[in-house]
Amino acid sequence: MLALNKTRWQAIIKNDKSMDNIFFYGVTTTKIFCKPSCHSKAPKFTNTVIFQNQTEALKSGFRPCKRCQPTGQRVSNEIWVEQIKTYIQNNYSQKLTLTIIAETCHGSASNLQRIFTKYTQQSPTVYLNNLRLQKAQQLLRQTNDALPKIAQKCGFNSSSYFNTKFKQKFNMTPLQYKESFLHK
Ligand SMILES: [Zn+2]
Repeated sequence: MLALNKTRWQAIIKNDKSMDNIFFYGVTTTKIFCKPSCHSKAPKFTNTVIFQNQTEALKSGFRPCKRCQPTGQRVSNEIWVEQIKTYIQNNYSQKLTLTIIAETCHGSASNLQRIFTKYTQQSPTVYLNNLRLQKAQQLLRQTNDALPKIAQKCGFNSSSYFNTKFKQKFNMTPLQYKESFLHK
């Protein structure tokens, strides 16, 4: 891995084409790597790593960006959907909207909605919500965390919203769920 120095950082934020194939950059929150010229949303400095070549990026577990295709090969929709799922799984506790997910995963919101739904039979929002509720169930079973804390850890912006969503999905409140589990 190379250092993220000022020259390389400038090349990334200015989409400098002359640096293409001289280095590649990866974003640790998405595990996606790009050419410096990629027009995707600029990453955070602290989430950026630099690779000397694509082999190094691939070996480090990073996957090619669908937009700039740093390996020179087309990135299939299946692979893109996997990237999106990985991103959601690693960031479900944060505030995530369709636009944020699309920008971070280097696509448009409408493509994200259409392709993700086609390959997983559920919309990104439904996928995210189900994942958050699963994580919440896990925390209710395995910890004694208070409900507001669980709501926050799972990315719900309020306890009452968490309560509503949980009830919609499982026909009981989070507290009822916890109690039913305790008395089994
Ligand atoms: Zn890219």
